[in-house]
Amino acid sequence: MSIRLTSDQIERYSRQIMVPDLGGKGQIRLRQARVLVIGAGGLGSPAAFYLAAAGVGTLGLVDPDKVELSNLQRQILHATPDIGRQKVESASTKLNQLNPEVEVRPYPVRLEENNAAEILANYHFAIDGSDNFPTKFLVNDIAVKLGIAFSHAGIVRLQGQTMTVIPKKSACYRCLFKAPPPPEEILSCQQAGILGAVAGTLGSIQATEAIKYLTGFEEGLLTDRLLTYDAKAMSFHTVEVKRDPGCNACGDARIADPVISTTA
Ligand code: ZN
Repeated sequence: MSIRLTSDQIERYSRQIMVPDLGGKGQIRLRQARVLVIGAGGLGSPAAFYLAAAGVGTLGLVDPDKVELSNLQRQILHATPDIGRQKVESASTKLNQLNPEVEVRPYPVRLEENNAAEILANYHFAIDGSDNFPTKFLVNDIAVKLGIAFSHAGIVRLQGQTMTVIPKKSACYRCLFKAPPPPEEILSCQQAGILGAVAGTLGSIQATEAIKYLTGFEEGLLTDRLLTYDAKAMSFHTVEVKRDPGCNACGDARIADPVISTTA
């Protein structure tokens, strides 16, 4: 039986249904899509907000943390009365207020080696909005292993970077960065600072890539390219990234090998 949009759905999504190449068919694809958002923070908040608004049928949210006062400057899914609430619960409330049609699946856990494959396997696309290198490499390695496309992004201070990965077709995060940097070289948001609006820009780009992927705009995806954003200079650059045949996640030897170590 073919799925049809109701008159309310046509009205709600009318401005994007009008977009050439998306149309009602694209809208139905979004309704059938499942996207996992890893981290309900500075990147995950705007990404999940736009995905819910756009009518993605199922949104999984992974975050083990509770809302803190210092989160509110950038994590726009959470509001002052949410302080102390589990982030995935606070986020679910907002996303369902925005769009009651979206099924939100909260995972109040940290994504780890022992749960990542089980969680990720249920989704068509993932948004990596995590704030640490071990999780970014874990998301990459598991998504590559399962063949799930995802959007990587990272932000610090007034700078950000993002890249979309289609496993075994385009370069992966580990093709670009072989292994996490040593802990002493890492500046976290807590130490380095971050402008909320910069996170918003990157999270919006991630949501855009998810929508493009899910509705079939594959040609223009941000694959084999790293987009860097310098808000201080207000400049965007793209750097070509080549798939590494010797990559420890997606390299030729790894395709035949079902066991991928997620430790660098
Ligand atoms: Zn790779």
